[in-house]
Amino acid sequence: MIVTRFAPSPTGYLHIGGLRTALFSYLYARANNGKFLLRIEDTDLKRNSVEAAKAIEEAFKWCSLDYDGEIVYQSSRFDLYKEYVQKLLDEGKAYKCYMSKAELDALRAEQEARKERPKYDNRYRDFTGTPPVGIEPVIRIKSPLDGTIEFSDGIKGDMKFEAKDILDDFIIARSDGTPTYNFTVVIDDALMGVTDIIRGDDHLSNTPKQIVLYNALGFKVPKFYHVAMINGSDGSKLSKRHGATDVMEYKKMGYLPQALLNFLVRLGWSHGDDEIFSMDDMKKLFNPNNIGKSASTFNQTKLDWLNAHYIKNLSTTEACAHLLEFGVDIVQHPKKELIVNQYKERAKTLAEMANGIATLINPLKIYDEKAYKKFINENSIALLAKFQEILTSNFVASEIEAKTMEFLEANEVKLKDLAQPLRVAITGTSVSPSIFEMIEILGSDEVKARISSLLQKGI
Ligand code: GLU
Repeated sequence: MIVTRFAPSPTGYLHIGGLRTALFSYLYARANNGKFLLRIEDTDLKRNSVEAAKAIEEAFKWCSLDYDGEIVYQSSRFDLYKEYVQKLLDEGKAYKCYMSKAELDALRAEQEARKERPKYDNRYRDFTGTPPVGIEPVIRIKSPLDGTIEFSDGIKGDMKFEAKDILDDFIIARSDGTPTYNFTVVIDDALMGVTDIIRGDDHLSNTPKQIVLYNALGFKVPKFYHVAMINGSDGSKLSKRHGATDVMEYKKMGYLPQALLNFLVRLGWSHGDDEIFSMDDMKKLFNPNNIGKSASTFNQTKLDWLNAHYIKNLSTTEACAHLLEFGVDIVQHPKKELIVNQYKERAKTLAEMANGIATLINPLKIYDEKAYKKFINENSIALLAKFQEILTSNFVASEIEAKTMEFLEANEVKLKDLAQPLRVAITGTSVSPSIFEMIEILGSDEVKARISSLLQKGI
């Protein structure tokens, strides 16, 4: 059985790149009837892990990603890590290192002077003497002194690391007894039965160390997939400079979770030339072996395009529910279907859609100065005054259109000469959907009242 996991360190929010890693791991498990586990890597107790877990759960819920079993908190497993540190000590696979900070600094300075890579020199590896007084030892693993560490990465292919170049006897427990990241991650992945680890390639240099630990502990080494980073539009690593990195910010900006997930799955993964993937498609088609090697770019235009696509596909009921979140309540509106259909065609975000609708259905308070100046003049005022007269009762859009055409012909004016001033009168702006539909939505009395207000205001 495929068992994957998402193992964030608490930061207080779910990062958009983290969501991609989580999604890949989730999809691989779900595509194979496997398990997807969630672990909070909160060994640094200064951070609030409950808050962090809540933020992740909230984002998962919004995206409808579910995980199996209970959340595992590393902070509640210190005893377990201690047990395994002791086991390695007992088996002679790890040892206590009493090197003081001053000694370590001196060694580092010497190595730097010789232009060598700073590296612990294994001086306590075979130490049998009397430990120096007053120094709490760190615990180091006995790393292989030569040979290679090799593994086949599911994305990057065959990886080979020279032990002597990259490994020293690295620390698995600090002098205060707390275990290090590389140690806890191995213990947990092994004990949680994780078979496949999909994570950012910023962890690639940790992997040989983790393999050393798997081997020392006698655990089976899982399959690794190191996913290339997401870059911003300028080619540098995605950060707040490029836009929002908190997943829930995207909710606030009016993105639909399915659009965001569809967008993220394509950052690295592909299936032919397809761009649109429902969750069901993704679950069926996803395979980490199809993740590309190169870094991907966060393309805002593409995200907006996907969001517009998913907004267009919302049912009226779904759209009404989303609009409520943006403070627009048209649930009981007799023309809600027409409103939704008009606005969902042109909105890039739910926020944009809600704003447009609010501008139409709420009482008109302000006019856009530029639009007013451009379209309201003596002629257009006279035209609007006359146009009011054809709105004798509530019509549907097609009837309004027919009447308007007659009106235009009789007055020898073009549609645009009426439409823009009318938009200003109705919405205060010069951008809106078709005027015929807008008149149907508002009803003739309301449209006449809005025209009258503008006439009163004058030029
Ligand atoms: N906790 C690590 C991080 O947030 C991830 C560990 C892993 O995936 O192996 O970067």
